[in-house]
Amino acid sequence: RLPTVVILGRPNVGKSTLFNRLVGRRLAIVDDTPGVTRDRKEAEATIAGRRVRLVDTAGLEEAPPESIFGRMRASSEAALREADLALFVVDARAGITPADRAFANWLRRARKPVLLVANKAEGKAGGQQALEAYELGLGEPIPVSAEHGEGIGVLHQAIAAAL
Ligand code: GDP
Ligand code: MG
Repeated sequence: RLPTVVILGRPNVGKSTLFNRLVGRRLAIVDDTPGVTRDRKEAEATIAGRRVRLVDTAGLEEAPPESIFGRMRASSEAALREADLALFVVDARAGITPADRAFANWLRRARKPVLLVANKAEGKAGGQQALEAYELGLGEPIPVSAEHGEGIGVLHQAIAAAL
């Protein structure tokens, strides 16, 4: 089976935007077919010449704040079980939140290979803001802007090297 890369992180950090960016335009267009769900959860992608299976995880924006980590963990646990690599996404603009720390602690204990992706790191300030994510203890943050397509080449190389 194809190596499986799962995208994890708290709501609104840009997981689905990154998923679409990694899957690429050609596949994303298929997503616009009427009657086909627009919220794609799983797709194949070519990352630095390798075919991988990419899995997006649920948006839980509706969850009450006090239960948000519990619900994220429940939905992420199943996805992580089948993962060969996890992309843990944080929001470089918002900075590291308590939910990010809780999620990171849980992820560290899962002992799966993890790449730390600091999204929304576009522009001059972005790389600097991304550095805050070092505190999570998940290695060097990879600054990207899923929306603007910055840092994606470096992320591709990191994914390929980790698989
Ligand atoms: P998810 O809940 O983690 O799947 O996050 P989404 O992909 O739905 O994105 C949440 C919001 O962040 C949306 O308004 C996106 O347009 C925005 N967003 C995603 N990536 C970026 C980025 O690289 N830069 C900026 N500035 N905004 C982004
Ligand atoms: Mg999403």
